[in-house]
Amino acid sequence: MIDIIAFDGDDTLWHCERLYAQAAGKFKRLFSNCHDPEWVGQRLSEIEIANLSDYGYGFKSFALSMIETAIEISDGPVPSDLLRQTIDIARQIQRADVQLVTFAEDTLAELSATYPLMLITKGDFIEQARKVTGSGLAKYFRSTEIIGEKSAETYQEVLARRHVNPRRFLMIGDSLRSWKGCAHPVQPHLVPRDDGLFHSGEGRIL
Ligand SMILES: [Mg+2]
Repeated sequence: MIDIIAFDGDDTLWHCERLYAQAAGKFKRLFSNCHDPEWVGQRLSEIEIANLSDYGYGFKSFALSMIETAIEISDGPVPSDLLRQTIDIARQIQRADVQLVTFAEDTLAELSATYPLMLITKGDFIEQARKVTGSGLAKYFRSTEIIGEKSAETYQEVLARRHVNPRRFLMIGDSLRSWKGCAHPVQPHLVPRDDGLFHSGEGRIL
């Protein structure tokens, strides 16, 4: 028996990862005159991962990681024009139209007729709030939670505050990271990406 169904946002209801992949591609091309683009992309990815615990998720964190990468890979000061273009790349992530995942709205419309739905999405508050509004999906959710990280403690706090029994709560998302450390009592259900595969949230396809 399920009392409430919660959905992840990024890459479950709307596309996200491909915006960051496109941004990384632009950044690599920006510095391709002086470095191998693949190496630039590798350093950006490493720096981004290393910064997660301090900066969290989102386009502002990504901007800082790109700037840090630019400083690291440049001999001497980074030209201000390159820094400006780097910031513009990050800003384009934030300003991009929200692209819904196929059948996301159909699924919410059908489920919301039977179950109360909740949105639990992680990341930068302004960025996520803009996505929720831009998606046009807010009307299907009884409640929305924008959180910094999906951990067992965060889930427990959210469910306790909402008076939700964890054993009667279903969480739907694209990434195992959504349930890392909280596989019990939260019930995880993976949804396939557009290519029909499942993403582990750690760079591996399940
Ligand atoms: Mg996700």
